[in-house]
Amino acid sequence: MKNSFDHALPNAEGYFGEYGGSFIPEELQKVMAQITAAYEECRQDPAFKEELARLYKHFVGRPSPIFHADNLSEKYGTPIYLKREDLNHTGAHKINHCLGEALVAKKMGKKKLIAETGAGQHGVALATAAALVGLECDIYMGEVDIAKEHPNVVRMRILGANVIPATHGRKTLKEAVDAAFEAYLKDPVNQLYAIGSVVGPHPFPMMVRDFQSIIGNEARVQFKEMTGNLPNNLVACVGGGSNAMGLFTAFLDDQDVAIHGVEPAGRSLAEVGEHAATLTLGEPGVMHGFKSYMLKDGQGEPQEVYSVASGLDYPSVGPQHSYLKDLGRVSYGTADDQEAIDAFFELSRLEGIIPAIESAHALAYALKLAKQGEKGSILINLSGRGDKDIDFVVENYGKEYGIESLI
Ligand SMILES: *Cc1c(COP(=O)(O)O)cnc(C)c1O
Repeated sequence: MKNSFDHALPNAEGYFGEYGGSFIPEELQKVMAQITAAYEECRQDPAFKEELARLYKHFVGRPSPIFHADNLSEKYGTPIYLKREDLNHTGAHKINHCLGEALVAKKMGKKKLIAETGAGQHGVALATAAALVGLECDIYMGEVDIAKEHPNVVRMRILGANVIPATHGRKTLKEAVDAAFEAYLKDPVNQLYAIGSVVGPHPFPMMVRDFQSIIGNEARVQFKEMTGNLPNNLVACVGGGSNAMGLFTAFLDDQDVAIHGVEPAGRSLAEVGEHAATLTLGEPGVMHGFKSYMLKDGQGEPQEVYSVASGLDYPSVGPQHSYLKDLGRVSYGTADDQEAIDAFFELSRLEGIIPAIESAHALAYALKLAKQGEKGSILINLSGRGDKDIDFVVENYGKEYGIESLI
């Protein structure tokens, strides 16, 4: 097995081993090449780096702290630490790459950021970045999701973004992607399609990873300062995979650090449509413009997927994760809905921190590692806060935890 990680990845065509690349219409290839060139220029430009660093510090509130979870550590018999991305402005890690993408768009002279959103988390982070940087912002969202995620729709509108309903088909995320893509094709010169994770065609898996790698760069220094060592284990949840790549990248060369990615097992791994465990159960294929592991149906089309965490239910995954899986550098496991909800309450009640249900998947898996006798330190990426999830959790799981109906 090859043990070294090549920091030069992806290659010039956007490949991590056999994964990644750019499978898009000819007219978009040219636009993607322009974005790649602009990004390369930005990342060499001291003024760009300085501006991003300023915003991370004074707008987002970075560095986010690492917290030693005393009560969890005592209960589970091993040191457990949390990287607190939930404390960022807007409440999650997504602001890290949205600010980067907005600055690249501005530098390219674009007028408008566009994106799709499911639960509205990416939409709110992008609308925030657009407001700050001074760009227009169109967010495409399924009509069904607009009704379900009312508070995030209101946030985006207050921030000045347009929320454009996708009204065809099942009226959820897939239709929103179609609508956003169609709008993008009409004017790729004045708009930038700001992809919300380490997915999509080159250069997005690289660019989003680079903007998110601030998480691991900070964590490596902070953890050494706190303990004198590196963590024995890293754990992060994997939807598209951006918060995970953000934490993992700085540690890939540290062979003594075990790295774990956690996918959602939903209601059941045994049934199609009841989970979104792409790396665990999928196979290589092409969708949304890139090659990676994916969950396919009989026709080779994307499977229906499900997770209690809407930020994790994606039928593919960032191509670098596929590469790291095949290489054996990262091990990928799962946590199901119930395990995530149990972890959600465990962290709330033992540490006074309400996590996003996405992040609770990482926590659930870390607690499983501890129960299995993993004695080393565990650093968990707490990708976001749980405010967005409280009504849903109480309505569906409150009784189990002694919360009677409040109305
Ligand atoms: C969107 C989201 C995720 C999943 O996205 P990744 O790209 O896999 O990181 C995880 N946690 C939170 C809080 C999110 O909002």
